[in-house]
Amino acid sequence: MGWAPEHPLAMSNGLVLEHRRVAYNKYGAGTQTCNWCNVELEWSAVEVDHLDWTRTNNRSDNLVTSCQKCNLGRRSPKEEAAAKQTSAKLNEQSDKLTALIKRLNR
Ligand SMILES: [Zn+2]
Repeated sequence: MGWAPEHPLAMSNGLVLEHRRVAYNKYGAGTQTCNWCNVELEWSAVEVDHLDWTRTNNRSDNLVTSCQKCNLGRRSPKEEAAAKQTSAKLNEQSDKLTALIKRLNR
C-alpha cells in the first residue's frame, strides 16, 4: 500500500492498495472486463483477484480483474476440498437413508 493521492485508484485517504496499483499498471485506464465472465467494468467496480490465492503475491502475472460476483464466487483450493468432503458425507448419508427406506418398505 502506498501514498499516491493523484493515482486514479487512490482511496479517499490518499492510499492505493498495492495489488490494485499493480493491476492498473498491467491493464491500463478505461473499461475493464472480468477475467472470468467477461462482463465490462469500470475501475471503481473492479475487484483485483489473486490467481494463486496468495494475497501478498502482487506480481502482475498473479493479478486479474474480476467483477464482485466472480471474485466472491471463486473457491480457494481449501474451500473446494472442504466442499467436496461435505458433498461426500451427504452422499453417504443419502445412501444410508435410501437403504433404510428400502428395508422399511419390504
Ligand atoms: Zn465476473
